[in-house]
Amino acid sequence: MSTLDERIRLRVQAGDFTQWREKVEAVGGCSVPIRLGGAWQVQTPDGHVLAKRAGAVFAPCGNRRESVCPSCSDRYSADAFHLLRAGLAGGAKDVPLSVRQRPRLFVTFTAPSFGPVHSRRTSSRGRVVPCRCGDYHHRADPRIGAPVDPDTYDYEGAVLWQGAASTLWARTMTRLRRAVAHAAGLTVREFPKHARLSFAKVGEYQTRGLIHFHAVLRLDGPDGAAAPSPSWATTDLLTEAVALTARTAKYHDKTTGRTFQWGSQVDIRPIHADQAATLEGHAGQISEEALAAYVAKYSTKGTGTTTAADRPIRSQADIDRLKISAHHRRIIQTAWDLGAQPGLAHLRRWAHMLGFRGHFLSKSRYYSTTFKRLREDRREWRLTEALHTLGVDRASVLVVNSWEFLGTGYRSDAERELAEGIYENRRMQRQQKHRQEEV
Ligand SMILES: [Zn+2]
Ligand SMILES: [Zn+2]
Repeated sequence: MSTLDERIRLRVQAGDFTQWREKVEAVGGCSVPIRLGGAWQVQTPDGHVLAKRAGAVFAPCGNRRESVCPSCSDRYSADAFHLLRAGLAGGAKDVPLSVRQRPRLFVTFTAPSFGPVHSRRTSSRGRVVPCRCGDYHHRADPRIGAPVDPDTYDYEGAVLWQGAASTLWARTMTRLRRAVAHAAGLTVREFPKHARLSFAKVGEYQTRGLIHFHAVLRLDGPDGAAAPSPSWATTDLLTEAVALTARTAKYHDKTTGRTFQWGSQVDIRPIHADQAATLEGHAGQISEEALAAYVAKYSTKGTGTTTAADRPIRSQADIDRLKISAHHRRIIQTAWDLGAQPGLAHLRRWAHMLGFRGHFLSKSRYYSTTFKRLREDRREWRLTEALHTLGVDRASVLVVNSWEFLGTGYRSDAERELAEGIYENRRMQRQQKHRQEEV
């Protein structure tokens, strides 16, 4: 058996390496690309072929998880940032700059408590005070987030809540629209004729293994982003409606007979245009730019269990093999065991995500642009570039694509290693360019 280094050397020396490298460059060094075979052809409307490329190509895997594909995860994160920023600051297609004048809030909804957990606590003067367990925990203490008493911690309740979190979110948005309508003296039916409530949200795991949601909420006129909000739509009105809704929103699940609600810690902050205050500073006001970056950062993270499960769990043996904390293991085990019951199969399917089955980034239709749109724009831009080098005008030609699926991933570990090197190089070049621009 040859070593990986030797296999890499052989791959680089092979006759088709330059060609292969170009294909990998085209997908940004994606770790597990989709292999396609077929042809791409540029022709005039009467069928005269101007250019043709045939053979095998790669398409990016598009996975948002950093641990699966660093390259596609980077792109996803950049898209998430653009999407969130566009809804906050405008300046994109369909989203005018005037969205900055609308009532906008940054809200964090948390999970309820399922038993005391170790935490690093500070007094109002910033002094570290002892945890419930009596110890002082330093910032990196691995016990933080784990139950003080694992035997009395309500693991079932926590996992069932997590499995219901997305539905609870949806119910909350419905209820919030009703609360805003009532505050404005409108019926639910009248509301859409006067205003529209848009949101974008991301899910983030807390160290206790429970998800919480960071959401941007915006109150527009009836046609969404392009319409000014009515005069009654103020930041105060929206704030009060959110506070009321977070306290009262419920989801009663018939399968388990349980009722799910949010935790008592709901953080509501107004977003003002051109405020440069930072998030960490708890100044109460957040700049749009910092906020979009903060929220986008979470969209590519996994469960925070680091070495935990990146793929679905298929057997008890899979759980036994995981190298994770006792607390996260017990959450996964509970999800797996509960998932054997009728009506709870989703907990087994999503045990590797600690029972959460929703989207990490979601938004309402009128919030801003979409991932699909951003991808299409990028494809269109690349196509225009390619046609430009051929000396043809986009409007006067037809582009015919015919591709079939061949498989996923590289043919060897040496190829994957080389591809990740290509991604890494690009990332460093980009960083260098940014630094030079800043200087
Ligand atoms: Zn990829
Ligand atoms: Zn403790």
